[in-house]
Amino acid sequence: MINLDQYIRDIPDFPKKGVVYKDISPMLQSPEAMRFAVKTFIENLKGEKIDKVIGVESRGFFFATLLAEKLNAGFIPIRKPGKLPYKTHTEAYELEYGTDSLEIHQDAIEKGEKVLVHDDVLATGGTALAACNLVEKLGGEIIQCNFLVEIGFLKGRDKLKNYQVESLLKY
Ligand code: AMP
Repeated sequence: MINLDQYIRDIPDFPKKGVVYKDISPMLQSPEAMRFAVKTFIENLKGEKIDKVIGVESRGFFFATLLAEKLNAGFIPIRKPGKLPYKTHTEAYELEYGTDSLEIHQDAIEKGEKVLVHDDVLATGGTALAACNLVEKLGGEIIQCNFLVEIGFLKGRDKLKNYQVESLLKY
C-alpha cells in the first residue's frame, strides 16, 4: 500500500493566477508509485474487458499506455487540433482555463468496442466529456473514465454523470 498523495505536487498560480496545478511529475519519477497506480486502476475495473484505452493529450498518455499494455488493449490518443496525421473527428470543449477542441482518428475505434477513457486530472469535466463524445461518435462503449486526481469542488463528476468515474485521489 502506497500513499499516492505524496507523489502529487501542488503548484500554486500555474498556468495562471488562482489555479492550483496538480503536477504528477513526482509520480512519473517513481516506478513504485506508477506500479501501484496501475494496479489500483486495474482493480477498479473489476475484470471488465477493455478493447481500447484512450489517453487525452498530453498527460493522459502516460498511464493510458501503461494501462493498455496491462489490459491487452489498444492505445488511442485524443489530441489537440492539427496533431493527428490521418482523418479526424473534432469536438469543442471548455477548460478550467480557456476553451479548446480535441480530435480522434476516424478509424481509432470500431463500433461496439469497449473503451476506457483516461486522463491525469478531472477538473470541470469538459475535457473528459469531449473525449467521451468522440468515442461515442465512433460507436465505442465507454466502460469507465479514470483519473489520477479529481478536483472535487469543480464538479467534473456531475458532467460525467452518464459514465462510471474512478479517481485514485480526490481533493
Ligand atoms: P477539465 O476539462 O476542466 O476537467 O480539465 C481537465 C484537463 O485540464 C486535464 O487534461 C488536465 O490535465 C488539465 N487540468 C485542469 N485543471 C488542472 C489542474 N488544476 N492541475 C493539472 N491539470 C489540470
